[in-house]
Amino acid sequence: MAALDTDVVVVGAGPVGLLLAGDLRSGGARVTVLERLTEPTTESRASILHARTMELLHARGLVGRLGPPPDAGPGHFGGIPLDLAEAGDSPYAGQWKAPQTLVETVLADWATGLGAEVRRGHTVTGLTQEPDRVDVLAVAPTGERLRLSAAYVVGCDGEESAVRRLAGFAFPGTGPTRELLRADLRGVDLRDRRFERHPDGVANARRGPDGVTRIMVHAFDRVPGGPKTPSFEEVRAVWAHVTGEDLGGAEPLWLNAFHNARRQAACYRSGRVFLAGDAAHVQLPVGGQALNLGLQDAADLGGRLAARLAGRAGEELLDTYHAVRHPVGSRVLGNIEAQAQLLFGGPEMDGVRTVFRELLGIAAARRHLAAMISGLDGGGPAPTRPGAPAVTGPGTPAMTPPGGTDVHGAPGTNRQHTTHRRNTMGKLTGKTALVTGSSRGIGRATAIRLAREGALVAVHCASNGAAADETVAAIEKEGGRAFPLVAELGVPGDVHELFLKLERELKERTGATTVDILVNNAGVMGGVAPEDLTPEAFDRLFAVNAKAPYFLLQRALRNLPDGGRVINISSGLTRVANPQEVAYAMTKGAIDQLTLHFAKHLGPRGITVNSVGPGITDNGTPVFDDKDAVAAMASFSVFGRVGDTRDVADVVAFLASDDSRWITGSYLDASGGTLLG
Ligand code: NAP
Repeated sequence: MAALDTDVVVVGAGPVGLLLAGDLRSGGARVTVLERLTEPTTESRASILHARTMELLHARGLVGRLGPPPDAGPGHFGGIPLDLAEAGDSPYAGQWKAPQTLVETVLADWATGLGAEVRRGHTVTGLTQEPDRVDVLAVAPTGERLRLSAAYVVGCDGEESAVRRLAGFAFPGTGPTRELLRADLRGVDLRDRRFERHPDGVANARRGPDGVTRIMVHAFDRVPGGPKTPSFEEVRAVWAHVTGEDLGGAEPLWLNAFHNARRQAACYRSGRVFLAGDAAHVQLPVGGQALNLGLQDAADLGGRLAARLAGRAGEELLDTYHAVRHPVGSRVLGNIEAQAQLLFGGPEMDGVRTVFRELLGIAAARRHLAAMISGLDGGGPAPTRPGAPAVTGPGTPAMTPPGGTDVHGAPGTNRQHTTHRRNTMGKLTGKTALVTGSSRGIGRATAIRLAREGALVAVHCASNGAAADETVAAIEKEGGRAFPLVAELGVPGDVHELFLKLERELKERTGATTVDILVNNAGVMGGVAPEDLTPEAFDRLFAVNAKAPYFLLQRALRNLPDGGRVINISSGLTRVANPQEVAYAMTKGAIDQLTLHFAKHLGPRGITVNSVGPGITDNGTPVFDDKDAVAAMASFSVFGRVGDTRDVADVVAFLASDDSRWITGSYLDASGGTLLG
């Protein structure tokens, strides 16, 4: 047998090809990757990683190199909110944001660091199988033609796979019937929305922390078949047709058209040639499943090829690649088809949507679908999955290190793993919270803290929208989710207006109007001698501090689920006399009564209602810049300092969590011992 140029030629240096190349190198195989593009793509494309993929990356020590990626929020099934954190027992249950460009860079560094050879600008033009090898013909960037002989070739070259075509793989399925347009835009001020339905189509918009808005639009009457890169004018026209909004003035950074074709290679192996990723299956790129499925294909195949090449396994190990991965792919294509119908079907699908929504109210149904999307369901019931290691059978390649050495179980990697989990999987993941008065002070710290625990937070304020935006930006910077909500309290119609806006925003983001946590924090102080207080000022204090919380809670009863949380911010001044603040203290006394009586009223629904009483807390007002004043105020606390807003926020977060389930109707003193005398 003639000497081979390499053991495996991988065609395509996208994430799938690079993961495969790294695994092959880890298993001791020689690898050459041929990529048509001369430079890595800068397109944003897929950006979501699922639990199974995260486990695979973790097993290869790569999660840390990704950042680690921020939690991307709950997810959906065909546009119906579905929290992937419910997928089951994985430290990475949930979905994780990682732009494809970043994933590619990390995988490229890793694979080349392990010794994989990546040749860019090489277009594969021919493929011939011989009994003992396969020859690949390619054209180099110089125009030079070259021939590489290898033991195996794997096509990771995407939807339009040259390998698939040249090796004559059958690729049955259905062609496109629906087209969607996607664009990344700068300089446009669009409302965020999630699969918003209109009479003529469906629209999606999401502004990222970098100010770039990704839109996606489908017009029911649009026939597929246009160019893959539509013009901006075309996207603008379709967006206007569906939403009635004009995108004029926006700068398009990326434009793309995609469709719902559904095809899958009849066999993933043909002699010495294999397919993985989009080369093996094309599908609507919804919810990031295409990339995840592809990476999981690669992770399965790498260990098998390496074991075979090292003489540690027979041919049958290569055949079981198809036996394992084809049914998994077919199952994913099926769920994507179902999602496409839910997402982009017209009014004829309304009944199905309603039933699905109802079904997704059942925890077991949510878990089932979340596990399916996350790749944690073992690929469904069909395939037999012998639990043996990669050398003798497919096993669970995710945690089976390619090459057989346990390089991934190092304590360092584990430590990183658990830290990651603690930092990103919060106690309030999947919950929604309204924190009134969270543009500044204690409310802001509370909003940030709740978002850090995973809650989606409505950052409310009276009028200071810029400050509310700052709170939201601080939350988003940490990878959390929040939105601003401006509505003055203590004026006629206040609660109505607040809920109008709140429910609209929640519906867009979660598809529902549930408020799991209500924090009545907004408040104003008095600061006048008892003799000087006017009836108007008295009424104002009561309107904002007592009446508004009452009617906010009354209105929120429609939105609070069983097991919800209400936290009312009271004050230490309900326990210590300060004549300057008599009316203010009276309002806070009223708040404590709100707590007491509603706690009893809502007990049967498992909703807890508690008060938190801060002492003097530095809320950033100028008096806290005065050293002498601060020293005087600090002397009230047994700890000798004034409170930090985070001291109070941490107490609120505890009361918002399940840890406080046995506490209701309480007043929690959060004054640093000020009341101890
Ligand atoms: P802050 O810094 O003064 O901020 C007040 C927040 O409430 C702001 O977000 C403000 O929105 C909002 N707000 C005020 N009036 C409103 C109205 N009419 N309608 C809607 N929103 C309104 O507050 P803080 O010092 O952090 O206090 C927060 C809570 O803790 C209050 O209930 C307060 O009584 C209580 N508390 C504070 C201390 C303390 O020492 N800081 C001590 C005990 C209790 P805008 O930004 O739009 O004005």
